[in-house]
Amino acid sequence: MQTKQKIRVAVRIRPLLDHEKRQGHLNSRIDCSGQEVTIREERNKKSYKFDHVLPESASQDQVFKSCEIDQMVQSVIEGYHVTVFAYGQTGSGKTYTMEGQRDDEGIAIKHEGIIPKTINSLFNKIKQNGLQKDFSVYCSYLQIYNEKIYDLLGETTKINQNTQINGLKMRWNVRQQFVVENLFVYQCKSAEEVIQLFKLGSRNRITASHKLNFQSSRSHTIFEIKIESTDLKNPDYFITSKLELVDLAGSERISITGTEGRQAKESIEINKALMTLRQVIAILSDTNNKTIPPYRDSKLTCLLKQSIGGNCFCLMIACIAPLDSFYDENVSTLQYATKAA
Ligand code: ADP
Ligand code: MG
Repeated sequence: MQTKQKIRVAVRIRPLLDHEKRQGHLNSRIDCSGQEVTIREERNKKSYKFDHVLPESASQDQVFKSCEIDQMVQSVIEGYHVTVFAYGQTGSGKTYTMEGQRDDEGIAIKHEGIIPKTINSLFNKIKQNGLQKDFSVYCSYLQIYNEKIYDLLGETTKINQNTQINGLKMRWNVRQQFVVENLFVYQCKSAEEVIQLFKLGSRNRITASHKLNFQSSRSHTIFEIKIESTDLKNPDYFITSKLELVDLAGSERISITGTEGRQAKESIEINKALMTLRQVIAILSDTNNKTIPPYRDSKLTCLLKQSIGGNCFCLMIACIAPLDSFYDENVSTLQYATKAA
């Protein structure tokens, strides 16, 4: 791994969309230069520094390259856990960054994002290492909504009453840490198989949110690829590593006054999980801080405990829609990302 830094933070500014331009929206407040993002409000301006800054012009390929994701995949092959998160308000480009853009039928992915590129890179590396090691790849895909866990593969299409109300149970297992009971895990032999599962789960994310009556942007999703490798010359040498690809719930602060009980609870749970994640990352990034991170304060951090707190590399991509009218949200995203670094 070239980048030895355990936790890195990137900021990606998406371009204004055609319909936003037509509506007269402008970006006159956000500038990028080198590793800095500057945000202006009348006479005030403030700059924030990050490991990587991806301006509006950055393509999906450039994001993959600049953030050194190929090197992270190499680390997975070497036995490290790797996590990539997308953070930002709804509409800021998280799903575009992680997954790419759906075509009009919602089936094919155009402008492939980090997840399909990572899957392809992983299987290329598995092939390259095939003479020394034997690899097994397993995938699962879940979403967390209101602190409840739902399977996006498996039974989701016919959610039964019980799962619908209670979600799946999470349990502590000393060896494997936190595990989700009854979560479907698929063994996959090729990149195509993994991509098919990912697409199926992403479609289920939409249908499940309709069935459970919430907006899909209000849930966190974790697509997990687990890799087991055995050294062919030394079969006692067996390692498991995990690659976690996380599309976080929209970070917008929905005004709690005036919203109904259910929406208020939703916002509180999302804020709590995102704040816990930030606290955990801030503690882990500071090598002098010996505090035990508060993983147990949210399901998201429990499930990612091993992959962000263990032998691992993490990348957080904070996404920004640079519309002037999003000034407050953008300041809050930049602050979140800065504190996480
Ligand atoms: P989020 O997942 O954060 O809610 P999306 O990824 O759905 O946001 O992005 C919102 C819209 O902006 C979508 O129509 C998406 O295709 C578009 N978009 C996001 N990022 C980019 C980009 N870098 N280039 C072009 N279009 C983008
Ligand atoms: Mg999204």
